Amino acid sequence: MPELPEVETIARGVDKRVRGDRIVEVWFSRHPQPFKTPRARQARELAGRAILAVHRTGKHIVCELSSSDAKPDADASGAQWIVHLGMTGRLLVTTPETPVAPHTHARLTLASGRELRFVDPRRFGRLEFRDLHHAAAFGAPGDEPLTIGADQFAALFRGRRLYIKAALLNQTLLAGVGNIYADESLFHAGIRPRRRANRVARAELDRLRLALREILTHAIRLGGSSVSDYVGADGERGFFQLEHCVYLRTGEPCRRCQTPIRRIVVAGRGTHFCPKCQR
Ligand SMILES: [Zn+2]
Repeated sequence: MPELPEVETIARGVDKRVRGDRIVEVWFSRHPQPFKTPRARQARELAGRAILAVHRTGKHIVCELSSSDAKPDADASGAQWIVHLGMTGRLLVTTPETPVAPHTHARLTLASGRELRFVDPRRFGRLEFRDLHHAAAFGAPGDEPLTIGADQFAALFRGRRLYIKAALLNQTLLAGVGNIYADESLFHAGIRPRRRANRVARAELDRLRLALREILTHAIRLGGSSVSDYVGADGERGFFQLEHCVYLRTGEPCRRCQTPIRRIVVAGRGTHFCPKCQR
């Protein structure tokens, strides 16, 4: 499942390649699952629009589009094409000659001759169109972990009795934090995953916020160096794997104190921590 840094990396890579381009033709597969907006309407609406920018919101990739009649240099977004990658989705920028991969559900032909393709074998990904004249812009329900302030971050956990790890994964609190980054940030902040969120001290929450931001930023930086592989014509995944401190290291020595890393289940997810470094 793509995590926040991967989605950010893809969004940046796609933005670099298609910003200012225009959608001239749209092809969609016949599978109904990927289309949150009916495919016929989506195809009709996308054709002709300029791509003003591509960015990440939560774990979604948002393509800001011009109004249907605007010029490519228009700066106000008139519509959005929202891509959720689901478990196995990929968004690729290709040449038209690139063989079409199995499970391709969308091909947007651009004025530059390139194609923007959505490939998703398991079909948990979703494609949505929003006309901003009639609907609100897409927003993730939770706060953005890269930019949230200390007070706002602490307020998320106030009065919540759920486990801190479960709170980190709760997408209505923070947008886009997945299992790896929850485990790793709790390790760096020295907090046990099964502490009650409302019992974690302010100083610990401050450390957690910084750890989360640092780990996500680091992962984005590493991923950024392989952007061309990730969204390249061949669709090969090139995301650089972080050297994890606890995630999937059950029984291996803690990198800080040599104590074997333990695994428990929290909120239905495998959870890894150091029983000595995390309190
Ligand atoms: Zn340790």
